[in-house]
Amino acid sequence: MPTARCARCDRPFVSPAATAYSPQHRCYACVEHPPSYTRAWTLYPYTPPLQDAIRLLKYQGKVSLVTPLANLMLTTLPQVDAIDLVIPVPLHHERLCQREFNQALLLADQIGRHLSISVSYTNLVRTTPTPPQTTLSRRNRLKNLRHTFAVQHPAELMNKRILLIDDVFTTGTTVNECAKTLRRSGSADVFVLTLARTIDQNLIPDHTQPAAPYPFSNP
Ligand SMILES: [Zn+2]
Repeated sequence: MPTARCARCDRPFVSPAATAYSPQHRCYACVEHPPSYTRAWTLYPYTPPLQDAIRLLKYQGKVSLVTPLANLMLTTLPQVDAIDLVIPVPLHHERLCQREFNQALLLADQIGRHLSISVSYTNLVRTTPTPPQTTLSRRNRLKNLRHTFAVQHPAELMNKRILLIDDVFTTGTTVNECAKTLRRSGSADVFVLTLARTIDQNLIPDHTQPAAPYPFSNP
């Protein structure tokens, strides 16, 4: 992943200079619409071969990939202080029936075990099935996801610092709606950790043709 990234949502910046003098620099989207989570980490670009591995897990049921993928998350886990609870992004039960498992839950389970932090499997639920987010505009994505998540036992989340786990961060709308639901139910800070992020292909460094070093590159 490019090194200069938004201090809130982890979005890569085009210019490596974006955070040179202000490491806490946030992207325009986070300034305009501050997310409900405190910080998101989106560890790797959603590109092959990782993309292939995630698809094999999700759509072909290769659950043996959970351990290596969780290990990949654990090797690059950022320093997060005093997390009380790990929560996976839930699937709606209809989707769960089709797929038989929730990949985010399987990853969260291993991460919770490694960090010795409790995993909450059933408190945050998805109450309505939602179509894939990627084809919708921002406004429609928000509308589509509003009131999609619910907390069953708010008392269990009260003032708890939460690490929310998902496999892929696409627009961030899903994890943000989860974080909003958790905060409204009384949780303390919500942090987000995803294995991969869909990113602009132009931001992926090309190893065969190195770009001219900053500041001499042409935009
Ligand atoms: Zn941002």
